Amino acid sequence: MAQPRLKHFGWGREGEGITPEEEAFVSSRIRERFHGGKFDEVAPPRLEEIKLAPPRLKPPASLAAFTSTEHYDRAAHTYGKSYPEYVRGLVGDYSSAPDVVAYPRNEREIAAVLDWAGAAQVSVTPFGGGSSVVGGVEPRVDGHKGAITIDLREMNRVVEVDPISRAARIEAGAFGPALEAELKPHQLTLRHFPQSFEFSTLGGWIATRSGGHFATLYTHIDDLVESLRVVTPKGAIETRRLPGSGAGPSPDRMFIGSEGILGIITEAWMRLQPRPRFRAGGAVKFPDFFAAARALRTIAQAGLFPANCRILDPQEAYNTAAGDGKSAVMVLAFESGDHPVEAWMARALECCRDHGGEPEKAAGGDAHREGAAGRWRNAFIRMPYARERTIRWGIINDTFETAITWERFEAFHDKIKAATERAIRDATGHDGQVTCRFTHVYPDGPAPYFTFHAAGRHGKLAEQWNAIKSAALDEVIAGGGTVTHHHAVGRDHRPWYNRQRPPLFAETLKAAKRALDPKGLLNPGVLIDP
Ligand SMILES: Cc1cc2nc3c(=O)[nH]c(=O)nc-3n(C[C@H](O)[C@H](O)[C@H](O)COP(=O)(O)OP(=O)(O)OC[C@H]3O[C@@H](n4cnc5c(N)ncnc54)[C@H](O)[C@@H]3O)c2cc1C
Repeated sequence: MAQPRLKHFGWGREGEGITPEEEAFVSSRIRERFHGGKFDEVAPPRLEEIKLAPPRLKPPASLAAFTSTEHYDRAAHTYGKSYPEYVRGLVGDYSSAPDVVAYPRNEREIAAVLDWAGAAQVSVTPFGGGSSVVGGVEPRVDGHKGAITIDLREMNRVVEVDPISRAARIEAGAFGPALEAELKPHQLTLRHFPQSFEFSTLGGWIATRSGGHFATLYTHIDDLVESLRVVTPKGAIETRRLPGSGAGPSPDRMFIGSEGILGIITEAWMRLQPRPRFRAGGAVKFPDFFAAARALRTIAQAGLFPANCRILDPQEAYNTAAGDGKSAVMVLAFESGDHPVEAWMARALECCRDHGGEPEKAAGGDAHREGAAGRWRNAFIRMPYARERTIRWGIINDTFETAITWERFEAFHDKIKAATERAIRDATGHDGQVTCRFTHVYPDGPAPYFTFHAAGRHGKLAEQWNAIKSAALDEVIAGGGTVTHHHAVGRDHRPWYNRQRPPLFAETLKAAKRALDPKGLLNPGVLIDP
């Protein structure tokens, strides 16, 4: 049965959203946080109320079979899921809608669109699921005569599975659930689960260096890519399938994280794992966040490599119903397709006890789906649907994520939290809330993920958001962190990325872009300027 279309505004498919019970929970937490304040509600325009300028371009007859200038296609490809994009969608500003959306079915059709775009001087935006949270998919004309978006969803097959080396050749437009469903009969899995798993694609993951919810060891998609194919305006590139190679700088690595500026990733051989059969997990309470962080450092440095290990500060645990607001919570899980993992779990719990951690209950089997761990898991899966409600009430809620080495973490955390809280007060005139969790952990440091909530004002939301996020990222960069651990750079993170990357590296990247995309068609303004 055909699934409903993806929403043009909000998360998921048409007809999906938070349930009345979830809305009541979210709204009660917000009212508590902002002392019962009353919020003005603004509703986004319905699809048919959105006004789009007439398309500036008409694709040639040779592209007609797989291109569209329909209202829905153009509106649904105007934005990704960043907060400022939600704000513009809320007020019905779709001025950057693409003129044309292409749904190529093979590389030949991608090459044909790129050739036409080059001749017609049209900018090109590659589009996977459109879940970018950094302004990565909004079309920009930037000196061109129009904008075309290339949506990869028709290229979505698992083409080949190699059970001996445990890898699969997968087309870039495959969404998470479909890709896993095709691997399941082979008893194999990619096990790459970003929170956006349901509505994002393999090509998008590779283009943004996404982070899955394997919290240690296989954190980024990078380690799962064995080889890939990319169609650039100058031709196609295919890398060799190799388990490892020392042959100069890696061509795979040049495209992983290239955010669509160098070419369109069309498929990749991906490393797979057996489906897990053995599991152990559960939640551990700690007196405070830093005690939980120290325990997690011990676990990470003991080489235990839990599949899931995140810590929530007390407020974050409370907001997601995983805690009482007094204790920090660690969610811990081990899994294997090969051997029992209770011994690993037992050793990790010893590390926790050494730092004052108290396990919620004896952990085993499905404990990661029960108790605090289960409540956190549910909130994590359902959270993305809440924003399209809360923004209607003028709530600014967003996240930023970074990574830092352990010896700097505690001071870094305190400075960022304080700077963000101060910025919320300055921008809105009210106290807000800043919480922190770890999404990924390495032997040499964590990836802290901050969430902020502020009571904003309709008409000023984008400006207020910008002031808060800028102050936070200024502090992240000043403190030696990275502007992003897994959300990518896009256009939103450019000012801080420019400060983070070495200047000569920027020149090198520009030279690579000139070689592959000499007319500067692809994603102008993402990662670098021409
Ligand atoms: C609710 C929510 C939760 C999220 N959770 C996570 C998370 O846990 N981990 C994480 O890493 N990220 C997360 N993200 C961010 C986002 O999902 C990732 O960046 C994801 O990898 C984007 O995939 P996509 O298919 O949606 O790509 P898109 O958003 O469509 O595109 C992202 C960028 O890649 C380019 N691109 C897309 N496909 C291709 C291609 N085939 N070839 C070349 N360039 C391409 C686009 O032009 C754009 O610049 C989340 C986002 C949301 C909204």
